[in-house]
Amino acid sequence: MANTGKHIVEDVVCGFCGLGCDDLKVEVEGREIRPAGSVCPEAAKLLWRMDVADPLFSRLGSPCSAQEAFDEARVILNAARTPLFAGLGTDVAGGQALLDLAGGTGGVFDHAASIGLFRNFTATQRTGWLATTLAEVRNRCDVLLVVGSDPTPNFGRLFERLFPDSPLFAGEQRKVIFLGGTPGARASGQLARAEVSSLPATDLPEALVALTALVGGRTLAGNSFGGVPLADLAAVAAALSAARYAVVTWNGAELGNGDLVAERATALVDTLNITTRAGVFPLGGRDNIIGLNQLMLWRLGYPLRTAIRGGASEHDPALYATAQALKDADVLVWVSAFRPEPPPPFEGKTIVIGHAETVFDKAPDVFIPVGTPGIDHAGTVFRMDSIVSLPLGALRVATLPSVAEAVRRIAGGVA
Ligand code: SF4
Repeated sequence: MANTGKHIVEDVVCGFCGLGCDDLKVEVEGREIRPAGSVCPEAAKLLWRMDVADPLFSRLGSPCSAQEAFDEARVILNAARTPLFAGLGTDVAGGQALLDLAGGTGGVFDHAASIGLFRNFTATQRTGWLATTLAEVRNRCDVLLVVGSDPTPNFGRLFERLFPDSPLFAGEQRKVIFLGGTPGARASGQLARAEVSSLPATDLPEALVALTALVGGRTLAGNSFGGVPLADLAAVAAALSAARYAVVTWNGAELGNGDLVAERATALVDTLNITTRAGVFPLGGRDNIIGLNQLMLWRLGYPLRTAIRGGASEHDPALYATAQALKDADVLVWVSAFRPEPPPPFEGKTIVIGHAETVFDKAPDVFIPVGTPGIDHAGTVFRMDSIVSLPLGALRVATLPSVAEAVRRIAGGVA
């Protein structure tokens, strides 16, 4: 039986930003959930739950029963010619159920956070890359190059996770170089034991090309590259070359030219690996995008931004990106269980399988409120480095269905 008295739950796994922290402490009292101890702003905001009534299922903004909402969604989907399943903020079980449903209805699949993923795919599709893992960065990286702005606002405990007090192999002298950004107060606090420097840059890809040339032993003509003085780039190249395990990281979603940054960072790491050991550690992964992408690969052989039609699948990273696919879709199925993220503007029929606190500018045709994985029900999500799946536990008794349950009810199965 669930413990409904006030109690502390330790080692809670967090599924929000993709970093996969597994040491959260939360206070649970009945249906109320409050973070206890220090927690990042993202988790503090998304974990916090009050003991309030669940929102009502609705059709065109009018309350209806759960069964009526499921039935209406089924009617809309059965009449759809080109449905788009987007948002896709759900655990692996929710993604499985959506793919099962799309086996009958057809549809395009894309995740709300896929822009960074596909900027990175541009590099991996052309050249492949030598990617490292969170554990390797924690324990082995002695020089970390952070390309672009401080990632901490999106990944609140990033440097705390990457720079533990006692790494297994990296030693005490760890360097962090920000190229094109400066660490904010939170990042600086987490990097208190590291040697931190930052270089402003106006053109990150150009600066990375110059760094790659310098690491490769070439002499460059010019005083600065990408807005960085040559002498500063030479110092960074020397630090990277002298590292026993250098790592280059960036957040593709935050960089307008993230595809070029990914490609040039990959080339830099390739060059470093001629003489030392190095890897890329691309950031991203909110709302289980990595899990959904893995699921697509297992089930269809294609990543996100894939259409299922007539029992076949077709991948097109431009045509099946949400913004473009919305132009051809007649029905939008928007899924967002981790956060109250409303659907994008759309003129066709809209079914929202969403977070209980979602606020709409325009009422969807059907709103099916669902629980959050890791709070209302157990589930599995993937960490941003793709290699670890994380089990999320339930913190309270669920009063709303999971995405998987809701989708099975839409399909007409047993919840
Ligand atoms: S950094 Fe990310 S995974 Fe860690 S607690 Fe914050 S939101 Fe959760």
